[in-house]
Amino acid sequence: MTKVVFFADANRLAEALGYFGTKGFSGKTVPIKLHMGERGNKYFPRPELAHQVVTVLQNLHAEPFLHDTTVAYSGARHTALGYLKLAHGNGFTKEAVGCEVVIDDTGVSTVVDGRSYEVAAHLKEATHLFALTHVKGHIQTGMGGAIKNFGMGGVTKETKVQIHHGSRPLYQKDACTLCGVCAEVCPFESIEVTDNAWKYDKQSCFGCGVCVDACANNAIRYKDADMQYLLACSAKACVQDKDVLYLSELKRIARGCDCDPAAGPIICPDIGYLVADDPVAIDQASLDLINEVKPQVFEKINKVSPLKQIKYGEEIGLGSSSYELIEL
Ligand code: SF4
Ligand code: SF4
Repeated sequence: MTKVVFFADANRLAEALGYFGTKGFSGKTVPIKLHMGERGNKYFPRPELAHQVVTVLQNLHAEPFLHDTTVAYSGARHTALGYLKLAHGNGFTKEAVGCEVVIDDTGVSTVVDGRSYEVAAHLKEATHLFALTHVKGHIQTGMGGAIKNFGMGGVTKETKVQIHHGSRPLYQKDACTLCGVCAEVCPFESIEVTDNAWKYDKQSCFGCGVCVDACANNAIRYKDADMQYLLACSAKACVQDKDVLYLSELKRIARGCDCDPAAGPIICPDIGYLVADDPVAIDQASLDLINEVKPQVFEKINKVSPLKQIKYGEEIGLGSSSYELIEL
């Protein structure tokens, strides 16, 4: 059974990591994959926590650097230079965190379950990785945790677009009874059903898959596959055959993602930190701890079950949802 270590004080990070084999990190160049914020968002991981991770890795004689990738939509993070400026503005400077900050804009094709994902060049090169994940809600996947940190954040903007577009719905007119259920459940009001027509607005659709799950007549299917499945596969493309340690911060748990300028409100009180060597186990443990405090909060607020990414992750061999929680 996978170990997941829970602790409330970030100063106990080194102790928590002691439950895992960290000797292999000695002498290795280690990207620390994290989100360094978006203009207007105030919930992203803090530079102070990044600095603590950097110090722990340096004490293991590793050579860490902070790492993230450019995004597909317009704005500061669309280019590597723009993202670097934003990261510096959010406090992620070399002086503050104790290492370089690297933003990737290119990737290397990696096949998982028959589909190709472009893994960020520096992640692909590395043999050892560290994931610093801020756990929060997400409008398309319910929750964003370690799987999403790599699945969306570890790949190029071309693969990000591919994952978003591939999970949009494809309508099968012949099977539709115009019952209207899909329009009722769509969190983004992207579907309208009248007495004689089914209408769909591609621009506002986020590919969350709620309509696909809700249609009892199989009149909607994914253009390619469920986004949470594609995310799990994309995460596997990033981490397969590597030694990876995961730190998840369960604090400032907002409704939306760190890339959303209007991510609030906070939907769950601060809980603490988790460390593991398995992305599926740490996401399952994050979800369980949050559900203990605020039952089914992501389903209630974002209308999407985050359990799907955990289930898919387990199915494709990304990790195990079975874990033993060790409290420090
Ligand atoms: S839920 Fe299915 S059958 Fe009902 S209107 Fe939507 S697509 Fe048609
Ligand atoms: S995939 Fe989600 S956002 Fe898109 S139409 Fe279906 S329910 Fe609405």
